[in-house]
Amino acid sequence: MAGILIYSDKDKLALELITAAHQIATVLGQEIKAVAINNDAQAQVLASAGADTYIISNAEIVQADVAAVAAALQQTAEQLGIDTVLLASNRRGKELAGRLAQIMGAGCLTDIAGIKVADNKIECQRNALGGATVAIQYIAAPRKVIAIMPRAFEPAGAGTGKISHLDVAARSSGVKMLELKEKSSDSVDIEGANILVAVGEGLNSQGDLGMVETLAQKLGGVIACSKPVATDKKWLPEDRIIGLSGKKCKPELAVLLGISGQVQFTVGIRDAKTIVAVNTDENAPVNQMADYILNADLHEVVAGLNKALA
Ligand SMILES: Cc1cc2nc3c(=O)[nH]c(=O)nc-3n(C[C@H](O)[C@H](O)[C@H](O)COP(=O)(O)OP(=O)(O)OC[C@H]3O[C@@H](n4cnc5c(N)ncnc54)[C@H](O)[C@@H]3O)c2cc1C
Repeated sequence: MAGILIYSDKDKLALELITAAHQIATVLGQEIKAVAINNDAQAQVLASAGADTYIISNAEIVQADVAAVAAALQQTAEQLGIDTVLLASNRRGKELAGRLAQIMGAGCLTDIAGIKVADNKIECQRNALGGATVAIQYIAAPRKVIAIMPRAFEPAGAGTGKISHLDVAARSSGVKMLELKEKSSDSVDIEGANILVAVGEGLNSQGDLGMVETLAQKLGGVIACSKPVATDKKWLPEDRIIGLSGKKCKPELAVLLGISGQVQFTVGIRDAKTIVAVNTDENAPVNQMADYILNADLHEVVAGLNKALA
């Protein structure tokens, strides 16, 4: 029987992939299998979410060597009779998707935000034309590698899966890992945040970031930004960018300060549950997607909120 294999080195993303796999498996009557590479703890997590999980224990397969991981997954797919592999569409997952598809002889789609099975085809939803529209695409080839955006699906709940061991030969690409560095302590996961306070070019100066940071802390959230604030002004690191070339976020609350709402930005925040837009321009496009609009100077609004929340 053809099956679906899921893989991500991040537990949370792997659990989201199990949910995505269920959408396909229930319609096409396929089995869901997961693989954990040199990570017994992750195998427990995935099995507890209902996926039959295979552990590959081979110290020669290191995560940084994406070609070696791709080779391991290709062998796994072959041994288990898999025709569809779901990966996470984060930076490493996208590289892995291309490499794996090439050696599997599969078709490949990345940045997938939704999945539906119709007429025995796995229809994949992804942004097109710079985020101005949504395209529905499917892979016509019998083998498929599909990379799914973080947070497109909820993590899978409890289930019961078996854990087995699988032997695959390591095929190192020659990449030698010299050092593994932890991310700096000020790096923040804006994709995982429940409350975001995002600033745009409407902010007067870098010095005003302090009051925005204070507001974010008072609300229990984190600070994010539009692209120019990070790439042109360099006021915040690039991992805080929301949008097409940044992160796709799905917070409960997004407070957007001095952001016009160009489509390349809004694709990254339109799934927020509640959006508050603060803008001096009452015709700013961001207002079309906002639940609450404050037609005001953001500096006055932030100062007022900080005082009120003191
Ligand atoms: C291929 C490509 C990819 C891109 N990817 C991204 C991306 O991932 N993320 C992204 O953000 N952009 C991206 N962009 C850029 C995008 O098109 C916009 O240029 C950008 O989002 C604009 O940022 P902004 O809203 O902060 O600035 P602006 O468009 O300049 O808007 C500033 C807003 O602030 C308001 N304002 C001014 N002063 C105040 C004040 N005192 N109080 C309140 N409001 C005020 C103004 O009315 C205006 O609406 C991309 C562009 C391209 C071509």
